[in-house]
Amino acid sequence: MGHSTFIMADRPKSIALEPRLIEKPWGRTQIPRMFGPTEGQRIGELWFEQPDGHSSPLLVKYIFTSERLSIQVHPDDRQARERGLPAGKSECWYVLDADEGATLGLGLTADLSADEIHSVALDGSIERLMHWRPVAAGDFIYVPAGTIHAIVAGIELLEFQQNSDVTYRLYDYGRPRELHLEEGVAVSLSSYDASSHFRPAGGPVNTVLANTPHFSLVRANSNDAIPVSLSARPRWAMPLHGSVSGDGRSVDAGGCLLVEAGEPLTVSESSVVLIGAEGPLDS
Ligand code: ZN
Repeated sequence: MGHSTFIMADRPKSIALEPRLIEKPWGRTQIPRMFGPTEGQRIGELWFEQPDGHSSPLLVKYIFTSERLSIQVHPDDRQARERGLPAGKSECWYVLDADEGATLGLGLTADLSADEIHSVALDGSIERLMHWRPVAAGDFIYVPAGTIHAIVAGIELLEFQQNSDVTYRLYDYGRPRELHLEEGVAVSLSSYDASSHFRPAGGPVNTVLANTPHFSLVRANSNDAIPVSLSARPRWAMPLHGSVSGDGRSVDAGGCLLVEAGEPLTVSESSVVLIGAEGPLDS
């Protein structure tokens, strides 16, 4: 796979991406201070986009919830292109905080046909049929395209995803937002492979979290812990604690540094950083 060279030559070799705060009906008026003031708005998402409208294949978001989000699904690349869209959406989540008892919905508890998924979404019984999995800070979850999924209230997570905004809502708990049943059912999979896609908190700090066709994500507390294969690609670096720097720019926890291919980045002492890049680790 070729990797995009989407940082322009006249730009710095690393960029502290500016967060864009997005209001959502399920967002929060209080978010951790490091993300800045909400000014009374219900902030649901923070998007770390590139400046000047440059697009990139991946996107980092933080998500804060005070209510549950819809039960939804995203198409894969092929399905998206058949519908005239540039790319599908696989995503992954790193849970930063979760209320006691919080769960995430991943897949269904029964293997349903497309017709059955359509009818349980329409009558709302899909809520009971979701596989609600308890989550805690430090859990990592890969959500490949086609996974029926839902985020509940009381969750704070970092999402690393294909930069595609195509979401099909299957069920919205009776709220008035539009549903996309035909499109959603057509791309939905009942099953979810938790044994390989859900990685509970704990284990070594330095670890490969995601090694997927679209993106890789590692957690590292030193430069030595970052797989060498990532250094030839643009990298998104998100400190969980401490800071990370590159080309004279530095970001702290809650920020996102985009580092150009081949440009070194430095994990500061006593820091833990998530580092993501396009494509699988060995590509
Ligand atoms: Zn999603």
